[in-house]
Amino acid sequence: LPSSSSIIWRPSSLSHSRHIHKPGLLVSRLYQPANLRDVGADTRLQGEMTCKSQRLMQQAGLIHPSNPGCYYYLPATVRSMEKLVRIIDQEMQGIGGQKLDMPSLCSADLWKTSERWDLMGKELLRLKDRHGADYCLAPTHEEAVTTLVAHQTTLSYRQLPLLLYQVITRKFRDEPKPKFGLLRGREFYMKDMYSFDSSEEAAFETYESVCAAYARLFTRLGLRCVQVQADTGNIGGKLSHEFQLPADIGEDRLLVCGSCSFSANVETLASDRTECPQCKTGTLVESKGIEVGHTFYLGKKYSDVFNATFSNAQNKPCVAEMGCYGLGVTRILAAAIEVMSTEDAIRWPGLIAPYQVCVLPPKKGSKVNETLPRLRGEVRLKDASRLGYPYVVVVGQAAVEETSRYEVICQQTGETMFLSKDGLLDLLGRVETV
Ligand code: ATP
Ligand code: MG
Repeated sequence: LPSSSSIIWRPSSLSHSRHIHKPGLLVSRLYQPANLRDVGADTRLQGEMTCKSQRLMQQAGLIHPSNPGCYYYLPATVRSMEKLVRIIDQEMQGIGGQKLDMPSLCSADLWKTSERWDLMGKELLRLKDRHGADYCLAPTHEEAVTTLVAHQTTLSYRQLPLLLYQVITRKFRDEPKPKFGLLRGREFYMKDMYSFDSSEEAAFETYESVCAAYARLFTRLGLRCVQVQADTGNIGGKLSHEFQLPADIGEDRLLVCGSCSFSANVETLASDRTECPQCKTGTLVESKGIEVGHTFYLGKKYSDVFNATFSNAQNKPCVAEMGCYGLGVTRILAAAIEVMSTEDAIRWPGLIAPYQVCVLPPKKGSKVNETLPRLRGEVRLKDASRLGYPYVVVVGQAAVEETSRYEVICQQTGETMFLSKDGLLDLLGRVETV
């Protein structure tokens, strides 16, 4: 098993010498401070609504609030995010996406050109530099990426579709009510992709391939995700879908037909209705969802104003057809914990758990006194369950003796197995990692 995916529970008294934690990290060394000082005293954070994932993540030392809508992401969370980013990279690059990185500090000129400087209102975080020039901290990058492509004078139709994406950039939005921890922050991670195509048909094909990649991503994570038709909001464009994780605390209302494939965010329908507009026979069932992704077919809305063109087969300049596609990286992380966890124990999608295996070795002296270590072991087991490592391996008395029996608890299913050393290695070897 790669040492990078396991963690060992050992008291700090045993971990002083450096070489001991080489094979895997010791729990006692991990900077995962549980129950950090209560932030109740910080008046700026009072009144922020909380939810299960936020409470569990704070209690487990995964996140810590700093100021409204902003968090410290502690090491275990960063590990999990890095894994999620690797999966997103695989899926985006699988459909031809190329990763780039654009400035977060964006000149107001670009935003005035698209008219969003005024349209965005108070949500846009604005600032002035020392020369008095206006800037914003980018909430999204349509303006920036379209300008970049417009600067290229030699873009040929042969290079299309062009799919450019960023995956580890922070987005800034001055949300009126930041809440629910990482679910609605003022500073958060988003994967944003932008596509450039030569025709409307080609742009639709690209749009479909991105939607399919999003669906695959959620399947790999083991999350049930519903794709619904959605409003285009201030991004604009002609066609749009949201990817929603059904959850009671979700802020979106969804209508899904029981008989056909129709599903929509209620905001796209003229009135609350129960009859399906697509098949006309099915009944629409309402549920709530957390929006984890959003795709837009933009047409020429941005490429026209910024003059993003390519040269066609006759060597004539043509305005590109565009799409844009967002995934809320930090929101996916929190939403997964929200929908998978119990009230007092975190559960992760196996692929992105910070550590997939937690090893509880025998306590020192456990051969001598059998009762005391067992009690202690149960406390450690309870903690391991609360933190949600997908597999917990208890190396007890039996494993140390001839019989070589390892107790393995699979936390997703609650199943306990007793395995020989070979059986254990075989099981762990089959744990999927990214
Ligand atoms: P919402 O309706 O929840 O405010 P949005 O429609 O404004 O979101 P988009 O512009 O579609 O958001 O952004 C793409 C994705 O970024 C969203 O689907 C969501 O997953 C994520 N996201 C948006 N706003 C936030 C936020 N304040 N905190 C965390 N993630 C966010
Ligand atoms: Mg959206």
